[in-house]
Amino acid sequence: MFDKVLIANRGEIALRIHRACREMGIRTVAVHSTADANAMHVRLADESVCIGPPPARASYLNIPAILSAAAITGADAIHPGLGFLAENADFAQIVGEHDLVFIGPSPEHIRLMGDKIAAKRTAKELGIPVVPGGEAVDDLDHARQEADRVGYPMLIKAAAGGGGRGMRVARDKSELEAVFPIARAEAQTFFGNGALYLERFLAKPRHIEVQILGDGQGSVVHLGERDCSLQRKHQKLLEETPSPGLNASERQCICNLAAATMRKFGYKSAGTLEFLHQDGQFFFIEMNTRLQVEHPISEMVTGIDIVREQIRIAAGATLGYRQEDITFSGHAIECRINAEHPDTFAPSPGTVQRYHAPGGMGIRVDSALYQSYSVPPHYDSLVAKLIAHGSGRNECLMRIRRALEEFVISGIETTIPLHQQIMRSDAFLNGDYDIGWFERTFDQTP
Ligand code: ADP
Repeated sequence: MFDKVLIANRGEIALRIHRACREMGIRTVAVHSTADANAMHVRLADESVCIGPPPARASYLNIPAILSAAAITGADAIHPGLGFLAENADFAQIVGEHDLVFIGPSPEHIRLMGDKIAAKRTAKELGIPVVPGGEAVDDLDHARQEADRVGYPMLIKAAAGGGGRGMRVARDKSELEAVFPIARAEAQTFFGNGALYLERFLAKPRHIEVQILGDGQGSVVHLGERDCSLQRKHQKLLEETPSPGLNASERQCICNLAAATMRKFGYKSAGTLEFLHQDGQFFFIEMNTRLQVEHPISEMVTGIDIVREQIRIAAGATLGYRQEDITFSGHAIECRINAEHPDTFAPSPGTVQRYHAPGGMGIRVDSALYQSYSVPPHYDSLVAKLIAHGSGRNECLMRIRRALEEFVISGIETTIPLHQQIMRSDAFLNGDYDIGWFERTFDQTP
């Protein structure tokens, strides 16, 4: 097992990884920008190294600085967390070339799944149903031809897209002609890669994803599905497991398919296959070759520590259990609490005046906040994850509602009131929502 792990991330996810390391008797190295000198992940780690100024490209994305920090502190392995360098195949490769272990999948798997066009082709080859479309389109002429095959309405997507960005809807040919050049320019600007593809736009699907764990030595298991249909602008706000929109046979079918295909693929580490589900059919959209923000809900219902499993697998261990050994118990929901105005979604960085996290049965809070901490303006606005577990969906809802009431974060605006509003909605309480429901119901922003 490793002696020392460098955590190449910040915020609640850096803390989450630190906690898993600590429980395993592994020492931790935090890296941080100058804006994060007082951050909780820095305070709790055994050692810390400042790797640059606030902009992420100069610090959390600064590969030479991170490798130097690993060398100076004598770390054996690097956990990339999520976001930043977590799906950067070159980083995973460079880490390996420096005699360090990358806690994650192989660079080849990251590269293949990071290009959404290649990922869809691979998924098809593995026997996974995909959304119609998915081939690269070189120019507008090619896009027009491909559009006739895919059918309207459609999405123009960036091959290198992520985080819900780089997607545009075209409802007919004239819209395609208008939007295509804009999508191309945006893809180039945001992702440094102008490659685009078209995909059938599904009207009211649910977003269902399957968590898998593979040891790269022949064993792959799934940890059930997560329903992430509660979204705003293609970004997840709340997740739950099991999905209220699937029956037992649909659930078993998609989870087993995900595990079987990843076994064929020889996947190592934690990963998630994302699907849209509509009219009883599943369509693969992408795979995330990393830990996800919403991983705790799967941990709550299975009792498996996904980060610990990533670390064990990276150190060469086999899973040591089979699918039949995993039991699923109860229901879990996660609310993503962002430092944002709950009506306008404008970011709200600043100093936390008062902080009180809820507790009690079935409640887990993953957050790096503390009283008098200043949320810097430079990074993602997620500041806390409130996770509830109950024996069934109703008990879980009861607990999360109660915990939202207890949660005090003052001095900055947060999305806690928004989650309280969601918890009062009959459609949500009945589990009756799709990916567009939140925007149709609550979101008055342009
Ligand atoms: P990203 O990598 O940017 O997160 P995804 O391909 O995972 O992009 O899609 C993110 C979200 O966008 C999905 O959860 C869903 O809400 C929406 N979406 C993606 N593809 C489609 C589609 N073909 N039809 C309708 N909505 C889609």
